[in-house]
Amino acid sequence: MSSETPSTSLENLSREDRRFPPSEEFSAQAVATSELYDRAAADREGFWAEQARELLSWSTDFTQTLDWSNAPFAKWFVGGELNVAYNCTDRHVEAGHGDRVALHFEGEPGDTRTLTYAELTAAVKQAANALTDLGVGEGDRVAIYLPMIPEAVISMLACARIGAPHSVVFGGFSAEALHSRIEDAQAKLVITSDGGYRRGKPAALKPAVDGALAKGSESVEHVLVVRRTGQDVEWTDGRDVWWHDVVDSASAEHEAQPMDAEHPLFILYTSGTTGKPKGILHTSGGYLTQATYTHRNVFDLKPETDVYWCTADIGWVTGHSYIVYGPLSNGATQVIYEGTPDTPHQGRWWEIVAKYGVSILYTAPTAIRTFMKWGEQIPAEHDLTSLRVLGSVGEPINPEAWVWYRRVIGGDRTPVVDTWWQTETGAIMISPLPGVTTAKPGSAQVPLPGISADVLDDEGHPVPNGSGGYLVLTEPWPSMLRGIWGDDERYKETYWSRFEHMYFAGDGAKKDDDGDLWLLGRVDDVMNISGHRLSTTEIESALVSHPKVAEAAVVGAADDTTGQAVCAFVILRGNAEQGDDIVTELRNHVAQEIGPIAKPRQIMVVAELPKTRSGKIMRRLLKDVAENREVGDVTTLADNTVMDLIKSGMTGSS
Ligand code: ATP
Ligand code: MG
Repeated sequence: MSSETPSTSLENLSREDRRFPPSEEFSAQAVATSELYDRAAADREGFWAEQARELLSWSTDFTQTLDWSNAPFAKWFVGGELNVAYNCTDRHVEAGHGDRVALHFEGEPGDTRTLTYAELTAAVKQAANALTDLGVGEGDRVAIYLPMIPEAVISMLACARIGAPHSVVFGGFSAEALHSRIEDAQAKLVITSDGGYRRGKPAALKPAVDGALAKGSESVEHVLVVRRTGQDVEWTDGRDVWWHDVVDSASAEHEAQPMDAEHPLFILYTSGTTGKPKGILHTSGGYLTQATYTHRNVFDLKPETDVYWCTADIGWVTGHSYIVYGPLSNGATQVIYEGTPDTPHQGRWWEIVAKYGVSILYTAPTAIRTFMKWGEQIPAEHDLTSLRVLGSVGEPINPEAWVWYRRVIGGDRTPVVDTWWQTETGAIMISPLPGVTTAKPGSAQVPLPGISADVLDDEGHPVPNGSGGYLVLTEPWPSMLRGIWGDDERYKETYWSRFEHMYFAGDGAKKDDDGDLWLLGRVDDVMNISGHRLSTTEIESALVSHPKVAEAAVVGAADDTTGQAVCAFVILRGNAEQGDDIVTELRNHVAQEIGPIAKPRQIMVVAELPKTRSGKIMRRLLKDVAENREVGDVTTLADNTVMDLIKSGMTGSS
């Protein structure tokens, strides 16, 4: 842990007292009720056992809900057997929903494909047969490096069906990043495509696979290639096979074999916001239970009528739990979109919402702030009245962005759920329940029924209401990570050593006067200004509450007098004027919103911020800039040129 670890609790700076109680109409039809909290509180393990049995189909019932005797290595639903892919496909067909649309695929160039549950089931069976023919068996790892096309979903489910853990790697990652992930997991097969469409052009993927394998990969036997763009590809005979050659001709008969509840389902590397990504391991029964339960209750899902859209990429955990496993296990109809929000125009998302009648939208604060920057006249040109629930994930959502999201996108009508969770937690952990919780903009509020969280001070004591500290999870949960792939020590050290018997999330949080939780950013990002411990999130939210600011990133930079000083990087809204006085204006605004102690020493107006592929701001790189250091590891950055731009801006301005 860094030397800047706070030695007392975090200071509580922000005041946000807007409240959004659920409408009576919404509550009357809501899936979740307050009774869920009571049931879970009365018997936590019994509650999860009930969810597992009600929501999933098991081939063999489990005999024990939780085995925690070898903590922190958990076993959930001991003795139970199920097939995850069967739960996401066949069983809906058997229940008579084969004609229901599973996927509405929208390609970036405007091409579309619709797959019903019957069609998806057949496609997954064919792919499962093809994988088996390529020598992939139970327990073998498969790397998936694909754009957001139906084959990505089909590939993941085919792996799950035959018990081959997948490791999905973002299509935007380099050959280097792909290579290290293939090596770490010792993948036997890589599934990729010639390319995908990005910003109006085909972007090649296959060369990165060729590059990764050229660095040496003993384990990989085959590369399975989907034809998406039709662009030329290099071909290695004997190793490379076309998807349309081996999958399309495969039999659509395939009987799913039951797997142990603890059979490994996937490995997924964390976003790498704070350092070297960790290969997080998830297993079958517990993971699917919590993904299914949260997707239903947090989004108020009605599978018969809703059209759900999660804008994440499948390379991120949100894509795993809330595009593939949760929604499909629930038999939902969903949209998947291949491209970027501004291709061919900045209204593309809203056009898609109107076209498919999307009723539930799940996205990230970074996207919402981008739309704020582009201006509300763009969504206003589209019919968004089908929307009824909005969700946010990935970073703390600034209250101003939350209110904008609800007003401009949700027509001042929809509940907004701010969902806190991590790759490690596998599924949503802290979130309001629509129809139940009175929402507070900027707060994830309460652990879901069945989940126990707390905020601790340095000594491991729960902080009182009104104070901040370290977020911990105090009880094991079904979709918890089962470890870091191949590194049990790192697992214990990273998550279970900071506080005894508790999972340390690495995030700061505070409890407000009602005991509701507000996420304050990474513990590593906490600043120490003249002995005051301040969170980056609160100062960023103060900046974003200024009408001229769309996005802000704050870091603490070494300072001779104050120990650390607040340095801010801001992106202005589209219509805002720049100029010298904007800096003074913003400094004063922060002082007025949260106090003089938080006033930034320096504010840089920038065009872009460094972000990971999943859209999270990489503060450690900005800190390198603010402290005039060589910029650190940028391999998980979405766009490498951003840092050069910011650095040249810095030299220009000082
Ligand atoms: P790494 O662990 O490699 O640094 P990462 O933490 O960014 O990467 P993820 O697992 O994708 O990788 O992200 C989880 C983190 O995202 C959480 O720990 C938290 O910091 C942040 N986060 C996610 N959802 C929310 C939310 N609703 N509010 C606040 N923070 C959130
Ligand atoms: Mg993390």
